[in-house]
Order: sequence, then C-alpha cells, then structure tokens
Amino acid sequence: MDRGVVIIGAGQAGFQTALSLRNEGYAGKIALLDDEGRVPYARPPLSKAYLKGTATAESLEYRPAEFFVQQSIDLVLSDPAVALDRRRQMVALRSGRELEWSSLVLATGAHVRRLPTSGKEPFCLRTFADSDSLRTHLSEANEVLAIGVGFIGLEAAAAARAQGKKVRLIGAEARLMGRAVSPFISAWFQKMFERHEVPIRLNTAVKRITEAGVELADGSVETADTVIVGIGVIPNTELAAKANLAVSGGIVTDSYLRTSDPSIFAVGDCATHPNVYAGGLTRIESVQNAADHARAVASTISGKPKEYRQVPWFWTEQFEAKLQIAGLAVEADETEVKGDPESGKFSVYNYKGGKLKFVESVNQPAAHIAARKLLEI
Ligand SMILES: Cc1cc2nc3c(=O)[nH]c(=O)nc-3n(C[C@H](O)[C@H](O)[C@H](O)COP(=O)(O)OP(=O)(O)OC[C@H]3O[C@@H](n4cnc5c(N)ncnc54)[C@H](O)[C@@H]3O)c2cc1C
Repeated sequence: MDRGVVIIGAGQAGFQTALSLRNEGYAGKIALLDDEGRVPYARPPLSKAYLKGTATAESLEYRPAEFFVQQSIDLVLSDPAVALDRRRQMVALRSGRELEWSSLVLATGAHVRRLPTSGKEPFCLRTFADSDSLRTHLSEANEVLAIGVGFIGLEAAAAARAQGKKVRLIGAEARLMGRAVSPFISAWFQKMFERHEVPIRLNTAVKRITEAGVELADGSVETADTVIVGIGVIPNTELAAKANLAVSGGIVTDSYLRTSDPSIFAVGDCATHPNVYAGGLTRIESVQNAADHARAVASTISGKPKEYRQVPWFWTEQFEAKLQIAGLAVEADETEVKGDPESGKFSVYNYKGGKLKFVESVNQPAAHIAARKLLEI
C-alpha cells in the first residue's frame, strides 16, 4: 500500500518535486514541509530585484497558497522535521506529529556560512527574512562593505550601489567568482565594478567581526554602517546524518538521486550526486540543478525511473550584465571570445583537451541556449 510522499524542505527543489509529482499523475498523499513559515518562494531575486526594491514579496512566490490546497499538497510551513525513523518509515515533526512515507525526499537546502562575530551581526542573504531586513536597512544606509566576491557578495554590492550607496568589496580569493567562471570573465566583471566606483580588495581574508568593525587577517580593521557577508553556504545534512544515511559534503546519492536508503531521495543544494559533467560526485547550488533533480525524482517515484544527467547552467545579474554559464568551469587550456566585450555582449568558449567544457555568455541569451545544446553529453 502506498503511504505517500513526504518532502522535507519547500525551496526550489522541494516545491518542484511536489509540482512534478502531480504533473506526472501521482495521486497519492504528498506532504511538503518547511520551517520558514512562508509559501514556497524563489531565492534568486533576494540579492537582485527584491533587494533593489523593484520586485514585491508576492512576485517571489512560485504559486499562491490556494494552489497547494487545489493540488491536495499538505503544505506544513512552521513545523520542521526533527528526526527520521527509517525502520518505521516515519518523519517526526517538532510538534510531535508524525508523517508516514513510502518515499521520502530530502530537499533541505543549505544555510549560510558565518564569520566569528562578537559585534553587531552582519547581514547575510539566504532567506526572505534576510533580504527583507537588508532592504529595509539599506534605505537608511550610507556606506556598505560587502565581504565575499562570489555571486551573492557581488550581486548584493551591485544592488546597493544601484541605490546610490557607497560600496566596497573584500574577497579572500584572487579573482571574482573564481570557482565558477574563467579568468577572462573575472577580469571583465572587475572592470565593470570599477566603472561603477566600487573598489575591490582581493586576496584579503576577513578574520572576524568585532565591536570595532571587520577585522582582516593582517590585523587591520575596516568599518562601514552596513556589512554584508556572502562567503558561501553549508548544506543541511543533520537529519540525514542522524539517520545514518551516507553524507560527504552533502547527502550522498546515486544517479537516480537515491540515498543509501532506497526509500529516501536527496535533491537540490543538499545533495552530493554523480554528475556526468563533473565526472564524479559533486554538489551544485543552482536553480537548474534543484529543479532538474526534482523532476527526475518525481518521475522515478511515479514509476518511470529517470537518471539525472542534465547540462548544468547558472546565471547572475550584476549592474548592466546578465551572465549565463552553461557547463561547469574547469581550468581551460584554450578560450575563444566571440562578440565584442567592449560592447557588453559577448561569449567565452572554454576548451580543455580540445573539448568544449563551458560557455559564458554576457547579455547574449541566444548564445547561452545554443551552448547548452552544444554541451549535451
Ligand atoms: C540570494 C540568493 C540568490 C541566488 N541566485 C541564484 C541565481 O541567480 N541563479 C541560480 O541558479 N541560483 C541562485 N541561487 C541558488 C538557488 O536559489 C538555490 O540553489 C536553490 O534555492 C536551492 O534550492 P533547494 O530547494 O535545494 O534549497 P533551499 O532553497 O535552501 O530550500 C530548502 C528549504 O528547506 C527548509 N528546511 C531545511 N531543513 C528543514 C527541516 N528539517 N524541516 C523543514 N524544512 C527544512 C529550509 O528552511 C529551506 O526553506 C541563489 C540563492 C540565494 C540564497
């Protein structure tokens, strides 16, 4: 007898799993749990349009609350899962309620990495509440110091600068978005920030935040009325680890996103999965990865087993540039630039051993779509 599906986490991956299950014709019970107390919403605008004040809170919601009622999806928003009983196939919620499963989907996402802090808590960007409090605060702010030169730090810095704030950036890495893009793109974006009068200090590690301000590794202290930290995330693996599922930098799955327990799947930011483009196990933080994991798992649970093997793709928006990346960045031995970087519309094709590995398109959406096809394995 089918005891239904329980999905823990109603972010991009959890929401899409529930939606795709119904689209696949799955008619059993679905419970979708979250602990943020909000109808499932998209995170990308939190560091872009919502932070700039050009998007409303409602526009972030994937679907209104009624949709879940119409689809018979039991949306439980303020009663987090606290333990898994694998023998009985039951999830325990904080309130003491228990939910039975035939299939369990862990879509628990990730939480922000923090700096040791003894002074005022800096701002971070993961949840709606984080973005909302920063957005309110920014309206009064003058000077912003953003720590971290990955996507989130750069998007937050650009959003603050677009609102006329004095902004500067500090990053421990040698170049912008170093893990995700080519040196050419890092340099092009650095120039763009300089054009927008955002000074950037690279190779500069932050030690901690104290009453005096932001203390750097060399002992000097930087101050600003607003400090934003975007130094990466840590996957939420505690539930899985407590239940003795395999965990290694994320919840470990096979190519069907099945964990070491065949009735339990892991999807999205929390899942360390075999990825044909990475050539092994990896964990990816992106909307594409979360949504495509979810679609594959929904298909498998509905009786049509589906391996996950989609081309990874990402995007970011900073000032006037929309960067779209197809494939996973590697150290390339050959790059080809098509289009004119000066005009702000171009693509970088990165090859290794004669094979196209990843393509970065700046304000060239058609080239990005074509690149995804070119990269298909
Ligand atoms: C500010 C920001 C901007 C981004 N911009 C982009 C972008 O431009 N492009 C892109 O591709 N990606 C972007 N991302 C990344 C993308 O949003 C994530 O990869 C995606 O949201 C991952 O979805 P997920 O469902 O795996 O995890 P999450 O969205 O983190 O959702 C997990 C949910 O599970 C809940 N949860 C955890 N534990 C429990 C529990 N025990 N019980 C109940 N609920 C629980 C959490 O509270 C959370 O709501 C951005 C992320 C952020 C934060």
